Amino acid sequence: MKTGGDFLTKQICTEEIFTREKFSPEQEEIAKTVEEFARERIRPNKQKIEKYNKDLSLELLRECGELGLLSVDIPEKYEGLGLDKVTSAIVAETLGFGLCASFSTTMGAHSGIGTLPIVFFGSNSQKEKYLPKLGTAELVSAYCLTEPESGSDALAAKSKAVLSEDGQNYVLNGTKQFITNASWADLFIIFATVTGKFTGFIVERNSAGLSIGPEENKMGIKGSSTCTVYLENVHVPVENVLGAIGQGAAIAFNTLNIGRFKLGAATLGGCKAAIEETLQYASERRQFGQSIRNFDVIKGYFADMSIRTFALDSIIYKTVGLIDDAVSEIDESSATYDSGVAEAIESYAIEASICKVVGSETLWFVADKGLQIYGGYGFIEEYPMASVLRDNRIDRIFEGTNEINRQIISGYFLKKALMEELPIREKIKENGNGLAGTDDHLDVLSKEKRGIEAAKAAVLYVFNETICKYGQDLPNEQQIGSMLSDLFSDIYLVDSVLKRVIQKFATSEVDRNWLAIARVFSAEKFYEISSSCKKIVSSILENKDLENGLRDLNTFDKKMHLTTNVFELKRQIADNLYEKN
Ligand SMILES: Cc1cc2nc3c(=O)[nH]c(=O)nc-3n(C[C@H](O)[C@H](O)[C@H](O)COP(=O)(O)OP(=O)(O)OC[C@H]3O[C@@H](n4cnc5c(N)ncnc54)[C@H](O)[C@@H]3O)c2cc1C
Repeated sequence: MKTGGDFLTKQICTEEIFTREKFSPEQEEIAKTVEEFARERIRPNKQKIEKYNKDLSLELLRECGELGLLSVDIPEKYEGLGLDKVTSAIVAETLGFGLCASFSTTMGAHSGIGTLPIVFFGSNSQKEKYLPKLGTAELVSAYCLTEPESGSDALAAKSKAVLSEDGQNYVLNGTKQFITNASWADLFIIFATVTGKFTGFIVERNSAGLSIGPEENKMGIKGSSTCTVYLENVHVPVENVLGAIGQGAAIAFNTLNIGRFKLGAATLGGCKAAIEETLQYASERRQFGQSIRNFDVIKGYFADMSIRTFALDSIIYKTVGLIDDAVSEIDESSATYDSGVAEAIESYAIEASICKVVGSETLWFVADKGLQIYGGYGFIEEYPMASVLRDNRIDRIFEGTNEINRQIISGYFLKKALMEELPIREKIKENGNGLAGTDDHLDVLSKEKRGIEAAKAAVLYVFNETICKYGQDLPNEQQIGSMLSDLFSDIYLVDSVLKRVIQKFATSEVDRNWLAIARVFSAEKFYEISSSCKKIVSSILENKDLENGLRDLNTFDKKMHLTTNVFELKRQIADNLYEKN
């Protein structure tokens, strides 16, 4: 049976994974529509949007509504398209070609965290009343969780809701801070406690006592709206409670799970658009009598940007594919279908957090390298990379900071290990008797396939040692937990890249460029994995135990460490990128 996090204990070749090569004709068509919209409507308007242009941003949002892009996740019964999560990720990704993170944020907050709580947890009458209008952007929405004194510690929120004497309304008091779309929104999903029970409410803008503070003066995404929302004795009808009293945490966090893989998808589009812009610039810019793209170090940068983007692409679509599989097993006629979808998504919370962390950090890497390739022009606002870098810095902070997401990743793995939901101990024992061989007939990437099994064995070994040492207190060892989280993410990345490439070669000719990407990516990750494993073991073991630990890790290293000429392969990858543009 498939379950979140099982990539750590399963062998690489056992199951097919979803990749963009498997997009259906309908999904390809939607990708084309969104790309056209992003290139023709968003990109040319970027400068105007960035000057904080409410009318233009909302006009473009309504255009998205007309194209159906806001209603991909809204069921058909409520005038939505009711499409799969792969399509949802395609929309988030492809909008990135607009190279305008402000608009992507406006749209993402509206159609994602602002709409999905109603899709998954709303009553039928709430859905009937709000979803059709959210799908067209006749109503714009915002999601209000953060408060001045509670950001990451969201459940410590001080906002309170008290039932009125006549039992008709909840009276809300509190302050919500840093709320995307706040000054443009008609509808607010607001979390507050009712006698200590965390609860979600749907609050309409015209409610007396609801007011909006001034726009924040932000470092980036300046074309989006971010304000404080004040609640002073706001009367919210009891029928606007979202789900049940006390269900707020499940609503808030499940919504964020979805927000996380969608944010990962949005960063993927950002990476591709940033590479495209940078390549165009590098092809035109000449120094020392030649195009700067010909310099070896610049080729290395383009290769690194492309390889990491390929890897991000692989985990995004593998993850949404897993989610869609889980969703397809739910009975559509069941009354709890929509909340069941949220639960199915939660079962891949590990993968969703990995998509968010890897996506935000990959885009940061790509934007930084892109800016460097622009040289001094990169630092000048008329050129695109300065804003790409500033605008995307927020991706590492919202939808749960990357520190919190790393804790989610390692925390879920710890829980799964302690509850024996994943066969971690059995696998370690098995590895002690020698690593399993790979089971498919292809001889391409055979070294890498052995390598990934060895890398998994090394990570499991180290994970087990940390559990033996700290047990349930492991979450307090945050530096180690964070490193473990990166090890799990690296395994997911390499596993997905190799599987994607192997899978493609099973039905088509071996492509030199794909092979090069898979070989460089795995070789570089194996070095990192080996070094991090040794760092952790050296911190938690002593004397003879440490000697034994390092010796055991060295046996895995021998199978992981490859004699790959990564520099030559990177030149080849860059040349291919230049040739195919
Ligand atoms: C432009 C923008 C748009 C936003 N949009 C929205 C929105 O639409 N809706 C909404 O509800 N919120 C929104 N936010 C808020 C955002 O989600 C929070 O800023 C974020 O969750 C972090 O909370 P904080 O700022 O209070 O930082 P804090 O929680 O105070 O964190 C500060 C630092 O401490 C670290 N830290 C905190 N707790 C721990 C821990 N337990 N262990 C280790 N490290 C820890 C964090 O990782 C961070 O590095 C937005 C913020 C911005 C800037």
